[in-house]
Amino acid sequence: MALARFFERVFRAAGRALVVSRETLETALGSQVVAVQCGAACAAEGNARWIAELLVNLLVRLYPRLAIASELPDVREHLIGIAKSINPAVDVEDATGATVTVVVGSEESSHPNTIYARADGWVARVLFQPSRSPLGPANPYAAAAAAALAAAEVFRRVFRDRLPTQQEPREVSLSLLDFSEEAGAEEPLGPADVGQVVMAGLGAVGNGALWAMGRHASLTGEVWLVDHETVELSNLQRYVLAADSDERAAKVDLADAALRHTGLRRYLCRETLESFAERFREGFTLPTVCVSVDNVPSRRAVQALLPRLVLNGWTGDMSLGASWHEFDREAACLSCLYHPNGPRPSQTDMVAEALGLDPERAGKLWINAEAPEPEELVQMEKHLGLKPGDLSGWRGKPLGDIYTGVICGSVRLDVQGLGRVEVVPLAHQSVLAGALMAAELVKRSTPSLGARSQHQVLTVWEDVLRRPPPAGRWLRDRSREPGCICGDKVYQEVYQRKWRTVATPGDMAPR
Ligand SMILES: [Zn+2]
Repeated sequence: MALARFFERVFRAAGRALVVSRETLETALGSQVVAVQCGAACAAEGNARWIAELLVNLLVRLYPRLAIASELPDVREHLIGIAKSINPAVDVEDATGATVTVVVGSEESSHPNTIYARADGWVARVLFQPSRSPLGPANPYAAAAAAALAAAEVFRRVFRDRLPTQQEPREVSLSLLDFSEEAGAEEPLGPADVGQVVMAGLGAVGNGALWAMGRHASLTGEVWLVDHETVELSNLQRYVLAADSDERAAKVDLADAALRHTGLRRYLCRETLESFAERFREGFTLPTVCVSVDNVPSRRAVQALLPRLVLNGWTGDMSLGASWHEFDREAACLSCLYHPNGPRPSQTDMVAEALGLDPERAGKLWINAEAPEPEELVQMEKHLGLKPGDLSGWRGKPLGDIYTGVICGSVRLDVQGLGRVEVVPLAHQSVLAGALMAAELVKRSTPSLGARSQHQVLTVWEDVLRRPPPAGRWLRDRSREPGCICGDKVYQEVYQRKWRTVATPGDMAPR
């Protein structure tokens, strides 16, 4: 069977949700054939073709056996080309053996386990019955979301028997405009000038954002692409801009290539965000930052630079979301979100970091609900700065109980270091977070769209891998955290001087 070269990483991502061993996951994946069936609409650029392209791109990063069916030989060849460029060893099979089928572009399927992915204007949909209504206007943000939502539904169907919690599948219609079900479904995506934007962090979430932005041809402005890293083998598990041959490519180069068909002027900055910011000796003057870096301190640093507008895309422990922030709004700033109540990194990595265990070992103990060895309890005592024997009462208890009791319970621990923990989500999780962040950028840069967008700071989907999207419950209001910089008069005055020198009503503020 043709497992991807980066399967180890796949296991770390999927294994967390599924409670499976590496071998079980391998066997489970080997018994599945996921089919993508493409209708006539996939022949031309637009929602159907974009969904098919991204869906294949996402699926091949997890499933070693795919079927790609289309009456149009060009479309089929094109999609097989995408799949093989990412996992050259993928098995491309006949659709008759499919265990799950995703139909894209106005086709019907007689296969019993079929879902239909489509996007109409700002609305992304995953349906269980074919829809006869004509396809709505092209919108790459909704198309990206539709592909990610379809991949999420496939995941839940493939692993239905292995997921610890069961919930009935649900059809999804999600408007990226205001998170209702239908807003903007008939609305063409117009030109958008996003002004001067920094894309800080070009990892998996950034890749999702850039994938969508790159298909918005009338997108204009200037963008600073900031990331010091190169693509590693493990990144291929979820970087939708990266092919097998891109190992060791600079992330800024992939980002640059992704935007080449837009009107965006691009500046490549192969450096950390901190070093980029230091170049602004007289103060940071760029108005907008999209942040999807993989650590908490950099996110808080972004807010402290006081851009006029911050867009944030994140994945956490099986969750994902996006947020938008204007520092003088009576709402949480980005820094507020990363106080201890904010989005959290991966659970098992967090546990490992907190208790001073090897992440692999912690993951194994966690998913098997096993107790650590006595020597490991001693190791934890040392790591936590406790007295010898302080944890002896936990002998024989599962790691999860120890974590909950010790870290979340009576023994106090400084968990500030959690910011460095790396999160390993699945590809569709990161892409959806990126698509949501990119959609916020376009909406908040276009007053006519911003006026119709949600006022809530945060959009969240918890438990992405196990539960369907939260129908009608995506949005969260967040108020400012006491003690955050947004409550500081000096910071607020600096922000006001920078961006609000012209006295205009809120909606008319200079963009
Ligand atoms: Zn704040």
